Amino acid sequence: MKIVNPANGSVISDVPIDTPKSIRAKYDRARGAQPRWAAQSIRKRIDAIRKFKEELARRGETLARTLTQEVGKPIRQSRNELKGLETRLDFFLAESTRTLRDETVLADPAQRLEERISHEPLGVVANISAWNYPYFVGSNVFVPALIAGNAVLYKPSEYATLTGLHIADMLHAAGVPDDVFIAVVGDGSVGGALLRQPVDGVFFTGSYGTGAKIAAGAGRRMGKAQLALGGKGPLYVCDDVDVRTAAAALADGAFYNTGQSCCSVERIYVHQAIHDAFVDAFVAEVKTYKIGDPMDEKTYIGPITRHAQLAVLKRQVTEAKRKGARLMLGGDVIQRKGNWFAPTVLTNVDHSMALMREESFGPIIGIQAVADDDAAIELMNDTEYGLTAGVYSVDEKRARRILARVDAGSVYWNCCDRVSPRLPWSGVKHSGIGLTLSTYGIQTFTRPKAWHLRAG
Ligand code: NAD
Repeated sequence: MKIVNPANGSVISDVPIDTPKSIRAKYDRARGAQPRWAAQSIRKRIDAIRKFKEELARRGETLARTLTQEVGKPIRQSRNELKGLETRLDFFLAESTRTLRDETVLADPAQRLEERISHEPLGVVANISAWNYPYFVGSNVFVPALIAGNAVLYKPSEYATLTGLHIADMLHAAGVPDDVFIAVVGDGSVGGALLRQPVDGVFFTGSYGTGAKIAAGAGRRMGKAQLALGGKGPLYVCDDVDVRTAAAALADGAFYNTGQSCCSVERIYVHQAIHDAFVDAFVAEVKTYKIGDPMDEKTYIGPITRHAQLAVLKRQVTEAKRKGARLMLGGDVIQRKGNWFAPTVLTNVDHSMALMREESFGPIIGIQAVADDDAAIELMNDTEYGLTAGVYSVDEKRARRILARVDAGSVYWNCCDRVSPRLPWSGVKHSGIGLTLSTYGIQTFTRPKAWHLRAG
């Protein structure tokens, strides 16, 4: 498989891919090795993750450059992702032992009865990952899965393969056995072949379309399946905010990672009283973003990682314009080598346009004026997705009232495009099933076993 730099179309590397036969062999190795890994103390498994963190720090700049080369993420943002990963690892290192400890839920001396819950690993799990934040979305799964005693068959996205191979190499260097964490390399067909193995759990991050196929297969297999899917994150700006501050924050939320985040701000509703001022400030802010070589320290907007996404962006913009949207900035592909789309801002948009209801996953945004909070809430919920949603307002009560009525896994007041390791990360509707992160996102890689113990 050729690994292509999306910034200029050059081939960076050529990697061998897995076949159904090699996948079967990898599955067998993982199945064989998992009980030994689970039998080790949790302290030893945590130690390996601590060493993995040290490896990450040691190789940091090489990893950041690889990520930028294969995904096109601007280099500063690649470094940010690696830095953020350290914080996530700290959370897992600090919380796993306590979270996975056996619990006594009844100790009754009169009946000489004890009831306990232990947290058993699932066994061999498949971790199928997306490319847009490969360190984050991968580690949300493989780190707690390994700590809990599972073996992991990890399929990085075909667009972040070199990063995936670095991850495998670092885990092995850190002491995770070669047969306990195994990379499976290739595209969606390889992912499909991996899921034909009798794994005990599937942890998938990617698009709704792929997730729906995986859910159908998992149903037949009766295995655990968690799906972290797309979003169409709405942000509502109330009439009481400082317009420039809100505009700058939301522009960053919409265009960071070149708009290729599941929790990007994907649509904005602005109270009509401040709409025009907000749009002016927003466009002025986006104009300051430097577009170009992602290896350049000053670059903020890089290429689109997947070439096919250019057509999606173009289609959404063209349709919106045809239906009456006003183009304030950008609006088309940039004609140069690689995959480039100009940062695009559209106003006078409505929900008849795919731009406002379907995931864009790129540097384009629609801004719609609304009459009041009720109208904003109705529009925020008018999509198949439900990953994130936010409100900007100086009034906490007002923000809480609005957010309580919005259907989303994560809600934000005066912030956006944010993930915390301490909070569960989940979606509703087409944004997914299950969760990662938080202590729930550690336990999710285990099954609770019930112990009824009566002293004889
Ligand atoms: P994708 O669905 O195209 O691919 C995701 C992974 O699935 C890749 O590894 C791919 O090779 C594999 N795959 C494809 N077809 C498969 C099949 N039939 N069986 C098994 N595996 C298969 O998604 P993508 O382009 O890599 O990622 C972008 C999407 O991911 C966006 O929708 C984004 O919002 C979403 N995402 C969600 C989260 C979250 O936490 N909710 C995080 C990051 C990205």
